[in-house]
Amino acid sequence: MIIEEIERTLDNAERLNPQLNSFLSIEREHALSRIHEVSKQTQPKPLLGTAIAVKDNICTRGMRTSCGSHILHNYKAHYDATAIKRLNEAGAVVIGKTNMDEFAMGSSNESSAFGSAKNPWDLNRVPGGSSGGSAVAVASGVVRVALGSETGGSVRQPASLCGIFGLKPTYGRISRYGLVAFASSLDNIGIFGLTSLDAARVLSVIAGRDELDSTSADVRVPDYESTINDDIKGKTIGIPRELFGEGLDDQVRNAVEKSIDNFRSLGAEIVDVEIPYAKYGIAVYYIIATAEASSNLARFDGVRYGFRAEGSHNLREMYMKTREEGFGPEVKRRIMLGTYVLSSGYYDAYYSKAQKVRALVKADYQKAFTKCDAILTPTSPSTAFKIGERSDDPLAMYLSDIYTVSANLAGVPAVSLPCGLSSDGLPIGTQLIGNFWSEGTLINLANVYENQFPLGAKPVVFAE
Ligand code: GLN
Repeated sequence: MIIEEIERTLDNAERLNPQLNSFLSIEREHALSRIHEVSKQTQPKPLLGTAIAVKDNICTRGMRTSCGSHILHNYKAHYDATAIKRLNEAGAVVIGKTNMDEFAMGSSNESSAFGSAKNPWDLNRVPGGSSGGSAVAVASGVVRVALGSETGGSVRQPASLCGIFGLKPTYGRISRYGLVAFASSLDNIGIFGLTSLDAARVLSVIAGRDELDSTSADVRVPDYESTINDDIKGKTIGIPRELFGEGLDDQVRNAVEKSIDNFRSLGAEIVDVEIPYAKYGIAVYYIIATAEASSNLARFDGVRYGFRAEGSHNLREMYMKTREEGFGPEVKRRIMLGTYVLSSGYYDAYYSKAQKVRALVKADYQKAFTKCDAILTPTSPSTAFKIGERSDDPLAMYLSDIYTVSANLAGVPAVSLPCGLSSDGLPIGTQLIGNFWSEGTLINLANVYENQFPLGAKPVVFAE
């Protein structure tokens, strides 16, 4: 039975991929041999036979791990990320690696060196990014769960644009060992689920301290499934009104306002909160993320990993040609920005100031959480935009992240859940941000909401 399920999943993935481009590799042989092995196991396993799609910046032994980049187009990881190791031990089966913005830099999937994944609700639109391929794999019904990564909204934003559940955990909740680094102080592994329950099951398995990642926290991991149906009566949800102003699409605003009413009708208490420094989130994020990226990406030099340019006469030329040919324009832009904000003379004005404002954003959240259990905002200021619409305008693209980046700066957990459809049938997401280690509360709120107010529609492209 579980063997047929995996076969069906692989068939669907292969059949839909020419349309959706959500997978960069579909690992049929690996998945079939895994499921035969798993099906023989006699001990109970929490994720026995669960098919999972994995973003292509998470290392999976023996499989290509390209990070959506030409520079790693031929790179095969020789070890499993801790999250993958734990999924395997729990009986899950990795069925393929998913498309992404190059090195997770982007909000649309268009910076992938292998072409953008397509939104299954409208194939002319982006799925969001950077974990767009994983979002599409779930939204199109191929898998129920997928791993993505978050540095500044890369799970929540595509979840919102694709009409599914997305979770970014507390920084340190899930080991980053084997997640290719973009901006280490912000990076997390995140989870997409067709529902919050699907994601909760995966979180329970992969969360927790890992000796191989010194930033992973030694904080007890609860069983997220056991509290998922708790009554949410009396839970307080804070609304930062200043974030509902300028730049927010009217249809998104209406749907998110409706989600506030719906939470109220479920017994939640709605209060006002303020996150005054959140408005600097984009500026701070794009300084810190690029600074860390410029350092992390120094390792891709043609010597250690992946692609090496031909025809160089000396070592320096080889480095330069490899990086020139191997990286796409967005990655180069980030490396240059990051190098600039770290350079002597500008370090204090940009990088060091951004770190101070980051501390203020975190303090804002800490203050707000003395008044509420969760903060509700839109996930994305607009629904899915057309492919090509923002790709020549990096600033417009960066502004897509206005609601998501501050949770990464503060390190707190956050989820996106579907809350409605626009008049042209595109999904809209509402975001819940929680205090440190309160994933259980967010999952509980999301699950109760989903059960009472399901989206009630499916994308045009959906695997049956
Ligand atoms: N849009 C953000 C960026 O381009 C998201 C990155 C991420 O979360 N990986 O940096």
